[in-house]
Amino acid sequence: MNYITETIVALATPPGSGAIGIIRLSGPNAITIANKVFKGKDLTQQSSHTIHFGNIVDGDMLLDEVLVSLFVGPKSYTRENVVEISCHGSNYIIESIIKLLVKNGARNAKPGEFTLRAFLNGQLDLSQAEAVADLIASNSKASQQIALQQLRGGFSNQLQVLREQLVQFASLIELELDFAEEDVEFANRDQLKKLINDILKVITALIQSFELGNAIKQGINTVIAGRPNAGKSTLLNALLNEERAIVSHIPGTTRDTIEEVLNINGINFRLIDTAGIREATDTIEKIGVERTMEKISQSALLIYLYDAAQITLAELNEDLEKLSKPGINMLVVANKADLLSNDEKAAIPQTESAVIVSAKEKQHIDELKLKIYHAAVKKRLEGQDILVTNVRHLEALQKTEDALVRVLSGMEDITSDFLAMDIKQALHYLGEITGSVTTDDLLDNIFSKFCIGK
Ligand code: GDP
Repeated sequence: MNYITETIVALATPPGSGAIGIIRLSGPNAITIANKVFKGKDLTQQSSHTIHFGNIVDGDMLLDEVLVSLFVGPKSYTRENVVEISCHGSNYIIESIIKLLVKNGARNAKPGEFTLRAFLNGQLDLSQAEAVADLIASNSKASQQIALQQLRGGFSNQLQVLREQLVQFASLIELELDFAEEDVEFANRDQLKKLINDILKVITALIQSFELGNAIKQGINTVIAGRPNAGKSTLLNALLNEERAIVSHIPGTTRDTIEEVLNINGINFRLIDTAGIREATDTIEKIGVERTMEKISQSALLIYLYDAAQITLAELNEDLEKLSKPGINMLVVANKADLLSNDEKAAIPQTESAVIVSAKEKQHIDELKLKIYHAAVKKRLEGQDILVTNVRHLEALQKTEDALVRVLSGMEDITSDFLAMDIKQALHYLGEITGSVTTDDLLDNIFSKFCIGK
């Protein structure tokens, strides 16, 4: 295959002027090509992981003074010979050096081609290669951490173990097919059932983790809801520490929704302030109420806010009853603490999912932020150290799940050949995630999204 014989070159740092620019070469001739244009030492005689000072020259013309780093394959990112030339960060110098390298036998790299080679040469599996893209695109501590963990192979290792176990069963069932006439059973059905159930547990947890994983990547939808005048807009402002939402003392004036982004512990929360939750007779407000309920059902966290100085116990219970539905993750916040006596404050329960604040006086806002983080992230992360954030992985996991469910339901009444087919499908989809099974289309699709030089 020609990818093995060609040496590729690209700028690895962002284009534009900078203190330095790094030009990367990878391929069998990376060192000899660099050596042709480098005046200093003979690069072909130097050991791996060394740095050399010298000049880049085009014939008699000096182009730049540079530092050259050598990585002799397979001890490099792509497992090929890799040379990194650190030159002065001028577009003119960078372009001239790249042109010179191309003249001497390298070719311009395509988007993602360095990482594609790392994958093809077995340095990274597919989900790790994708993690490189995620890592570069990460915009918060949380998304960086998830990408880093995927890069280290946490995700693929777990799937690989499952895949190997399933492969064993698949081969036993294949064996049964060879002895079809004799009606023998090599693959113990009880053991197979147990294995499939074990695998399904892991797969289902991974599928479920996508919701949180994706939320962390995109921002966690958080709704602030409560009766009119509870202080929702004021709380939104206090959390954001700015005067964004319109605050008014006429009940029910925040009719529409306002969305802002708040960062807590490196995670982005998309805060949505909604109209009151009380059933309204006024039709305009009713639209607001319906929209509120819809937003609540789509959000990852509901902050229910009430005016602790005004609300009656009956009203509070009525609201809580209405909102405590399965699937709704709720934090109960008592507001207007500044209007309460110490005794009144003491009577309000304070738990992991309940807190008392004053939005107007900005009291206990930091405590509320920590509880928001706990309710939306920490509580849900417990016991789950791997998060799926990639839609391609999610789809492959769902297809694996479907195939495994078919294996389970078919185990009682279908013949070994159908069973073998479903197991093969499950293996196929699991393999798509790690890249044990790939097609050119799939690779093109993944790596074309990378930028050049990656
Ligand atoms: P919303 O209808 O739920 O959005 O409520 P607003 O944020 O518009 O607040 C309604 C009224 O309550 C305004 O006059 C606010 O100044 C007042 N308010 C909000 N939070 C507090 C608080 O913590 N303490 C006091 N004393 N008043 C507050």
